[in-house]
Amino acid sequence: MKNYSKSPVIKAPLRSRIFRIVSQQAALKNVRAFVIGGYVRDYFLKRRTTDIDIVVEGNGMDMALAVASVLKVNATLFKNFGTAMLRYRGLEIEFVGARKESYRSDSRNPVVENGTVEDDRERRDFTINAMAFSLQEEDYGTLTDPFNGLEDIRNKIIRTPLDPDSTFSDDPLRMIRAIRFAAQLEFTIDKDSFASISKNAERINIVSQERITAELQKIMASRKPSIGFNLLEESGLLSIILPQVAMLRGVETMEGKGHKEIFSHTMQVLDNVAAVSDNIWLRWAALLHDVGKPPTKHFDKDTGWTFYGHDFVGSKMIPAIFRNLRLPLGEEMKYVRKLVQLHLRPIALVNEVSDSGVRRLLYDAGENIDDLMLLCRADITSKNPQIVKRHLTNFELVSKKLIEVEEKDAIRNFQPPISGEIIMKTYGLPPCREVGMIKDFIKEAILDGQIGNNYDEALALMKQRAAELGLSEVGA
Ligand code: ATP
Ligand code: MG
Repeated sequence: MKNYSKSPVIKAPLRSRIFRIVSQQAALKNVRAFVIGGYVRDYFLKRRTTDIDIVVEGNGMDMALAVASVLKVNATLFKNFGTAMLRYRGLEIEFVGARKESYRSDSRNPVVENGTVEDDRERRDFTINAMAFSLQEEDYGTLTDPFNGLEDIRNKIIRTPLDPDSTFSDDPLRMIRAIRFAAQLEFTIDKDSFASISKNAERINIVSQERITAELQKIMASRKPSIGFNLLEESGLLSIILPQVAMLRGVETMEGKGHKEIFSHTMQVLDNVAAVSDNIWLRWAALLHDVGKPPTKHFDKDTGWTFYGHDFVGSKMIPAIFRNLRLPLGEEMKYVRKLVQLHLRPIALVNEVSDSGVRRLLYDAGENIDDLMLLCRADITSKNPQIVKRHLTNFELVSKKLIEVEEKDAIRNFQPPISGEIIMKTYGLPPCREVGMIKDFIKEAILDGQIGNNYDEALALMKQRAAELGLSEVGA
């Protein structure tokens, strides 16, 4: 280990009561304890943190129990991992015993032994995450930084503490964590570390999907998610964990004609959406909005490149993508699928902004209309600023029309004013095809503007249609 006697001593005040108590308990137990990892890194980055990692040269669970009893709170023990966690005043404090760890190449389960804090740092993922503050009375708050993490923070660099091949090979999730931190902190991955990620990308296959997806969600939540997805693509990881998006890369040329490069377009759309919304699922919709393009790509002498039906085909791909990523398959998936399916609709209205077209869009999008409009606006990208300007002007026209029609007809969350129950009761019918036909007929008439969106006009139309179908009212 390097000798840091010449470096100036850096001390953090560590005023929080929790640090004092850990320090006292460590002294009582005659073990060394340190604050390590994210808290120390974020202290220098001036980022707010609510989770604190404490490493103890001894038993992490015993220490957690001792601290919890002073604070009069409960500690949660994770006996399988020998770690423990407690919550105190909005903080989440995790205790681990210092470990020495090595992984065998054929197994995802590490061999773990007790170790010193020096051993423990070597199994940390990055130099910026391997810094620690002492909790010993004699040098309370003093920084120890054996891998020069502070310098990497200053230079905004993500670098493994040891040889990157062994760090990444020991726990391949660290490759995605490197990219996650690059996106989240807007840091650069050191050249050798990045080369090693590209080299070891295949090893990501031994990592559980849940751990991978937790990191993907953090990339997605960062200010500019494209930073992360571009690095995933460049390193070759994306084609393993999300091949449907990796496939968007590249331009094919036929008879001298190329099409738009869909991957970089997608990155632009993703960042556009991220700039106006924190909604993580809207961001997923942006990432996935064009996944139907590769399977629908077609070249024709007359029309050039087309992607007919890519909205529909793309939306059909969403459930499997969500399933593979272990993302939630309920409302969240349905929302993304719907936005992918409808993403062309607002802009398609440009050519003919009719009331009925707008009503239909409002009806189909329902409560997601505002998000759909955000996605659609974000989808307007081009290298030519004139084209972008023209499209945006057209888009604003559609937006205005949408507001007008919405105010007039209240179609969003529209429920036809005549329900199936009313039809069944009026004509003494069980649930059957005729009921659906009458209901649809009324809905279509309202969306087309033939009748207003109200009970009386809908009732009159119900009677007219029922008569045509030869139905007669109960008791008539
Ligand atoms: P954040 O909490 O913002 O996600 P963090 O750095 O605190 O960032 P955690 O996942 O909470 O990340 O992990 C806490 C610390 O544990 C890290 O700072 C790092 O030192 C270490 N660590 C976490 N995961 C790994 C890993 N897969 N390999 C090596 N060290 C890790
Ligand atoms: Mg943390």
